[in-house]
Amino acid sequence: MIDTLVTIEVVDADKAYRRTADTVHAVRSVSFRIEPGRITVLAGPSGSGKTTLLNLILGWESLDSGRIDGVPSTPTWSDLAVVPQSVGLLPHLTIRENVALPDRVNRPRYRAEDLMKALAIARLARRFPEETSLGEQQRTAIARALVSGPRLLILDEPSSHQDADNTERIVDSLTTAAADGTTVLVATHDERIISTGDHHLNMHDGRVETVRSH
Ligand code: ADP
Ligand code: MG
Repeated sequence: MIDTLVTIEVVDADKAYRRTADTVHAVRSVSFRIEPGRITVLAGPSGSGKTTLLNLILGWESLDSGRIDGVPSTPTWSDLAVVPQSVGLLPHLTIRENVALPDRVNRPRYRAEDLMKALAIARLARRFPEETSLGEQQRTAIARALVSGPRLLILDEPSSHQDADNTERIVDSLTTAAADGTTVLVATHDERIISTGDHHLNMHDGRVETVRSH
């Protein structure tokens, strides 16, 4: 079990993108809590503000008002791991080297080989990202995020390039991480992931409209 568990609290978070022609109010007075060791699903249609909200939580964008507590400020891979929508592998490292990248700074919690098997990318270990499909690259980024056993794991549309079998593999990996104490926050509009969440936030037009727990 991971020693220090992470709870995230978002209070009255607000963010607008002001441009010359128009203003997009991407996140409107959003408040919620994310509990450790659970999978929180941030669901909602494209354009509803999911990525903006994740970026605010990550500190990659600044809030207009409100506050967000609980996110480590100078994180290592074992504090915080992110799988962005753009995947973000290092092109000059092989698939295995990408997965094992956090090992260079942290003691790995899981073996890279085990995660690569679980996510069906083991046979690609020696290839470079550009020699693999987008779906395979996305699963590589997920394996890389999991290898350190992060306290907080944030994923943006992690099944966007996956078929049903691979989505199942991703869901199983997230369930295992949460059982080990990782706080998981996943933005998605994929029913296959939504149905496995422990806690649901539904985002629509910048607002988190309903919160269901089970
Ligand atoms: P989602 O991830 O749910 O698809 P986003 O958070 O990416 O939604 O976008 C929410 C809204 O904010 C959309 O209307 C989008 O066009 C707008 N938006 C996102 N990023 C920017 C930006 N950098 N500048 C202006 N508008 C943006
Ligand atoms: Mg998005």
